[in-house]
Amino acid sequence: MALGSLNDLYRDKVILDHCRNPRNSAVLDLPDVSCEAINPFCGDEIRFQINLDDSNRVREVGFQGEGCAINQAAGSIVSEALNGLTLTDVLELSKKFSRIMEASLPKDVVVADKEAINLGELSALYKVREFPVRVKCALLVWSALDSGISTLA
Ligand SMILES: [Zn+2]
Repeated sequence: MALGSLNDLYRDKVILDHCRNPRNSAVLDLPDVSCEAINPFCGDEIRFQINLDDSNRVREVGFQGEGCAINQAAGSIVSEALNGLTLTDVLELSKKFSRIMEASLPKDVVVADKEAINLGELSALYKVREFPVRVKCALLVWSALDSGISTLA
């Protein structure tokens, strides 16, 4: 991978910070969207609530996670990344993130490395790619969102 050690350090710090101080952890009452997902292999659970504004953009997010550090950090980071997005945007971001996390052909990895740089704090999760058994932990939050949002379509 073409990532420098300073980047790695920053990324680790982001993940640690979100684990220790999860954002948006309050449960929302009567949310517009509610969803959850479970990964039985490492006991990860994630629950999301989303409220939309008048123009159908994400106004408020609640997230509660249990399980490993990657799952917790992913939930917290994603809960912040959703602000202001439409549900269609959320599904697109989910697709993009899954694609770069699962890129395996060398030419796809080159593209993924570039795309990851522009994902803000989400790029911290890209580091999880180096640990294939944990990729599912970083993607659980997206499978929750995918299932919750597609039931509305
Ligand atoms: Zn996990």
